[in-house]
Amino acid sequence: MPGFEFFGAEERKQVNEVLETGILMRYGFDTLRNNHWKAKEFEAAFAERMQSRHCQMVSSGTAALTVALAAAGVGAGDEVIMPTFTFVASFESIMILGAVPVLVDIDDTLTLDPEAVRAAITSRTKCVMPVHMCGSMADLAALRNICDQHDLLLLEDACQAIGGTFEGKPLGSYGDLGCFSFDFVKTITAGEGGAVITNFDAYAANADQYQDHGHDHSGNDRGAERHPHLGYNFRISELHAAVGLAQLEKLDGILRTQKRNYSILREALSEIDGVTFRRVPEGGVENYSFINFFLPSEEVAQRAHKSLTEAGVDACFYWYTNNWHYINGWEHLRNLKSLGNLPAEIKAQMQNLNQTDFSKSDHWMGRTISSLVKIGWSEAEVRDRAGKMKQAIEKAL
Ligand SMILES: *Cc1c(COP(=O)(O)O)cnc(C)c1O
Repeated sequence: MPGFEFFGAEERKQVNEVLETGILMRYGFDTLRNNHWKAKEFEAAFAERMQSRHCQMVSSGTAALTVALAAAGVGAGDEVIMPTFTFVASFESIMILGAVPVLVDIDDTLTLDPEAVRAAITSRTKCVMPVHMCGSMADLAALRNICDQHDLLLLEDACQAIGGTFEGKPLGSYGDLGCFSFDFVKTITAGEGGAVITNFDAYAANADQYQDHGHDHSGNDRGAERHPHLGYNFRISELHAAVGLAQLEKLDGILRTQKRNYSILREALSEIDGVTFRRVPEGGVENYSFINFFLPSEEVAQRAHKSLTEAGVDACFYWYTNNWHYINGWEHLRNLKSLGNLPAEIKAQMQNLNQTDFSKSDHWMGRTISSLVKIGWSEAEVRDRAGKMKQAIEKAL
C-alpha cells in the first residue's frame, strides 16, 4: 500500500512552492504566502474525491480520530465500541478524551462483528468505530442499522482502506464521520498527516476549531479570534499538506496497480486446497492494499508464515502473535500502564481485558496471514512472488 514508493517530481514541486515563500503554517500571513494555501487546497480536493461535504486535515490519523470523536461530542465516560484487531490509534484516540474503549470480537471480515457490537451496547455507548483493516471494510449496512436503532454515532476508521467503497460510496463517507491517515506507510502519504470527513456542518465546524486551540477562524486577525470551545493543536503544516496534494493525484493510479497485483496473487492462492479468503461484505469493494487469507488451523498458519519467510517472501504478516495490531500484543492496554493517573471513568468502566473472552477473534486471527500488495512490483515480479507463495504455503499444509 505504500505511497512512499511513488515519491517524485510532483511532490517536490508542491513542497518547493511552500519553501519559496517560507510560510509553513496553514493560517494567516496572507500577503507573504503568494497565494499558496496547501492545507486548504488539500482539504477541498480530498473532500471532493471522498464525495463528502467537509474535510478537516490534521497532523496524523490518530489526531483525526481524536478530533472526529471530540467534534461529535464524545467525552469522559462515553463508551466507544471498537474491534480487537486494529491499530493502537483506536484506543489511544478514545482514551485521550477520557472516553472508554469497549473491545469486541471480529468475524471473518476481520473487522467488527455486528452481533458482538449489538451485545456490547450499554446506556453509556455513544459511538461505534469500525476499522477497515488491511484494505477491506466492516459490514457498514448492518452497523448503520444498529447505530440508527440505538442513536449512536458511526465513525469509520478508513486509514488502511482509502479508495475502497461500500454501496458505491468511498469508505469513510458512509458513516457520520470518517478518518484517514497519511503516515509514511499508508496508501498515500504526506510524511505525517490525517483527515476527517463528514457531511455534518456542525461536526465540521467543531473539528475546525478543536484542531486549532478552539479558534473560530473568523476575520483575518488571528490574535483577535474568539474561542467558543476548548481545543488543542492537531494542525497539519503546509509542507505536509503539499506532499499530500501531490500524492492524492496518484491515488487512482495506485489503486489500479494494487488491484492488478492483488488479482495475480489471488488467482495463485485460490488454487491451494485449504486456503480461503477473508469475507468482503456485500456491497463492498476493497482497495486491494493487502491480500488476506485463512489457513485451516492456527498451527498450519504459523507453519505457513514460517515457510513464507524461509522462502524469502517479504511483507507477509501473522498478526496473531507477531505484531501489535491485535489485542495479544497490547500488554500496556490490558494492564492499563500509563505514565500518569488515568481518568476515573476509564478506571471504573474499562473491561478487564485480561479476562474477557475473545475466542471468536482468536479463531480468525490465529488462522490469518496478510500479504502487503506493493505498487512498485512489475507484473513479472508479482507472478514470481505468487508462485513462491503458493509453493511455500503448500509445503506447510
Ligand atoms: C495508520 C493508522 C491510524 C493512524 O495513523 P497515524 O500513524 O497516527 O497517522 C489509525 N488507524 C489505523 C487502522 C491505521 O492503520
